Amino acid sequence: MSDDRTDKTTGPTPTTGPSILGPAAGFGVTFKAMFKKRLTEQYPEYRKPTAPRFHGRHQLNRHPDGLEKCVGCELCAWACPADAIYVEGADNRDEERYSPGERYGAVYQINYARCILCGLCIEACPTRALTMTNEYELADDSRADLIFTKEQLLVGLSEGMVDTPHAIYPGADEGAYYRGEIPAAAPGTVQQERTVRDKEVQP
Ligand code: SF4
Ligand code: SF4
Repeated sequence: MSDDRTDKTTGPTPTTGPSILGPAAGFGVTFKAMFKKRLTEQYPEYRKPTAPRFHGRHQLNRHPDGLEKCVGCELCAWACPADAIYVEGADNRDEERYSPGERYGAVYQINYARCILCGLCIEACPTRALTMTNEYELADDSRADLIFTKEQLLVGLSEGMVDTPHAIYPGADEGAYYRGEIPAAAPGTVQQERTVRDKEVQP
């Protein structure tokens, strides 16, 4: 007895043998590609400039007198979807001051074997201490070398800056720094003795 619900169109799939046009079609793709614009980059002899807002290697920024903007709050580490950031905050002391406020980033590491350069960490940073540069040459053959320490990430000194640790600008408080009222290090500012170092890199 036949079943009316049976789909009469189903059945064995017809097999098709090899077509003699198959190889010609493949070569056709190759032939067409010969006339397309070449995209080959002459790297590393020629380094193509990136877009201005390209997300590359990170940078830890300073205030105009050289004190560090990072307050060791770890918000960047919590925001990171790849768990690539490690931060340890510590208290400033008057005899060894790294940032204007109460806390600073004593240990700061970014693991570029994990980082996907998404930029969520710089969005999370409340002090603009963390930004990203256009630098993209981050490949290495050692996992340990891909973990950048605070010393590697901290921006260099510009004119008017004194390296940390050093005293806060005379008469200024933390707010004056964030309102941009500190133009440069006060005359006579000297670097204090440094007893805190970034921890050894653990691969
Ligand atoms: S760019 Fe993205 S992946 Fe890289 S450290 Fe920042 S949040 Fe993490
Ligand atoms: S870089 Fe910014 S978010 Fe990260 S610990 Fe420092 S202040 Fe906080």
